[in-house]
Amino acid sequence: MRLLIMGPPGAGKGTQAKAVADHFSVPAVSTGDIFRANVSGGTPLGVEAKRYMDAGEYVPDEVTNNMVRSRIAEPDAAGGFLLDGYPRTLAQVAELDGMLKAGEHDLDAVLVLTVDQEAVVARLLKRAEIEGRADDTEDVIRRRLEVYAEETEPLIAVYDERGIVVRVDGMGEIDEVQQRIFAALDDLQD
Ligand code: AMP
Repeated sequence: MRLLIMGPPGAGKGTQAKAVADHFSVPAVSTGDIFRANVSGGTPLGVEAKRYMDAGEYVPDEVTNNMVRSRIAEPDAAGGFLLDGYPRTLAQVAELDGMLKAGEHDLDAVLVLTVDQEAVVARLLKRAEIEGRADDTEDVIRRRLEVYAEETEPLIAVYDERGIVVRVDGMGEIDEVQQRIFAALDDLQD
């Protein structure tokens, strides 16, 4: 299984990505998590990424693409993966297409979590309070949603044209959303 999970910041992608990845026994590869680990570790990649993350902007494509290319070349991703938070720009879509083609692979599905924008802002503010995430002040949250709408939402149409988008209502309890996701992906396999 080679899957993507998409949706605006705060849609619950990370939580659902882990459950779906476990279900299909593939690694969940979250670019946000990898960047955060590098920020915590104080690596050169982390120092560079932090400048963008703190402002709610995207890390440059070249940096992100190289990071994903090496991550999905690791042995645990040979049988598939679930990408969470990548691709986020049209240039990243083209790059991922190239990576997949090199391995003679295709994407099986692009899971899109749909959510209500104001609910998402409230969710992110609550998470910022609990986790103390530096990238989650209200201004930054609104900027991240804006960047998502401008740069990432158009990607859904690209994958829609390929007929691989699976939309799932992301509002509600975690378990409820998870059930919907599994039902939608099972339908796909039938
Ligand atoms: P996330 O946890 O997925 O919301 O990612 C947190 C932050 O990491 C984003 O706001 C971006 O600054 C950066 N980031 C994560 N994935 C990407 C990507 N595919 N392209 C550019 N920046 C990214």
